[in-house]
Order: sequence, then structure tokens, then C-alpha cells
Amino acid sequence: ASGVPLIKTGALTTCTHLPYAPFQSKDASGKVVGFDVALIDLVATKLGVTQEIVDTPFEGIKSGTDLNAGKCDVAAAGMTITDERKKVLDFSVPYFDATQALAVGTGSTLKTLEEFAGKRLGVQGGTTGEEYIKTQVAEKKLDVEVVSYKDLAALQQALATNQVEGAVNDLPVWNEYIKANPGKVTVAAGFDTGEQYGFAVKKGNAALLTAVDEAIRTAKSDGTYDKLYATWIGD
Ligand code: GLN
Repeated sequence: ASGVPLIKTGALTTCTHLPYAPFQSKDASGKVVGFDVALIDLVATKLGVTQEIVDTPFEGIKSGTDLNAGKCDVAAAGMTITDERKKVLDFSVPYFDATQALAVGTGSTLKTLEEFAGKRLGVQGGTTGEEYIKTQVAEKKLDVEVVSYKDLAALQQALATNQVEGAVNDLPVWNEYIKANPGKVTVAAGFDTGEQYGFAVKKGNAALLTAVDEAIRTAKSDGTYDKLYATWIGD
């Protein structure tokens, strides 16, 4: 009815990679919720359909493989817009600003990458955080052992169990982790990478991209975005 072609009748199918709270994670009942989910729900409502979420590795999302294979209509995964990804995906207008942050166990005095010489630093595979840290370590010729984990849960678990002495990921996910697990870790340093998140569609899917952009713009102008931000991100 909306004129936007969808892979499944009556549904807007979203590819995401769980868990990535506060953007997407399962609540106590097993339902996938979060800031990204709420924003894509606005798109689904606009199209007169319901959102269906597919949990799939981040690699397939950021490479465009999932969208090209028709696994989903849209990708919503706290995903940073990068020039490399723009070659294989079409991104919406930015909907969130992010930076990278270094988390360490409470009581740790480690604050800089230089101080990680001879130590293990965890990152999440395939992410902008991994790329940033690997580039820094190479450029500064630091003797840091960078260890990549398959998802955020594995990275946070590695930090919690001292398999690594620090872990780098997007700042909002550390803020959320600290809220959920008070007293365990602290943010020791921030790296202002100036990242912006975007939702993505298959290259050339202009009809859906327009609907996504309109939903974001409307939410920003009518106060819905601020309300959802307060609910999921806080201040
Ligand atoms: N924002 C980061 C990136 O795009 C991490 C995304 C994620 O792990 N879901 O690489």
C-alpha cells in the first residue's frame, strides 16, 4: 500500500546483531528492544507493517551481504556510517553521534593506550572500534596485544573475567553496561572518533531509504526522537 517494496508481505524485516544495548538487546521476556528498534518501529508504522527482527553477525550486515541476499529490508545495528561501508550500502541520514571509549575494571589505573604495552586490550571484531585501535597501535608502534571478540557480550565477559585488561567499544554501550552492572567497570578514556550511526538499505533502494529518512526527520521535529533518546540513552 505504501509503494515501498518489502521482502515479506506485511513486515519490515530488520537485520541486527545482538546484543548491543541500548540500541538493541533482548528484554527479560526475550523481546528485542532498544533505541534502534524504536526508531525502525516508526518506519514500520509509517509503512503500515510490523517490524520483524533478524539477529545475524555484524560482518554480514556491514558488508551488504545480508541486504543483497534479501535477508532483510533494513539494517539497524548501531552501525557507524563509513566511506568503506557506503560503497556497499545506502545509509540513512545520521541518527546518532558516537565516540569510542576505553573501559577498564574498577580500580585499574590504566588510562592510555601506551600504558597497555605488554597487556591485552579487547575489541569487537568488524567494528570501527577495532579498526581505530588497530590503527593507533600500528601508528604508535605500541606493543599491545589486541584481542578481537565476536560480539559485545563476549567482549564484556572477557573484561569482567580479566581475560583482557581493558576493552574498547562505542561509549553509549559502556554507559549502558555500567548502569546495568554498577561498580564493575569504569570508562578510563574517550577517543573522539566523530562517528555517526545510520540505518542502511540495499544499494539503490531509494523508496525505503526515503521512508527511513522521513521517519527520522519527523521524529526529530515532533519530539519523538528526544523522548526515545531519554528512554533508551538517558543523559
Ligand atoms: N558502531 C560500531 C560500528 O559500526 C559498532 C557497531 C556494532 O557493534 N553493532 O562498527
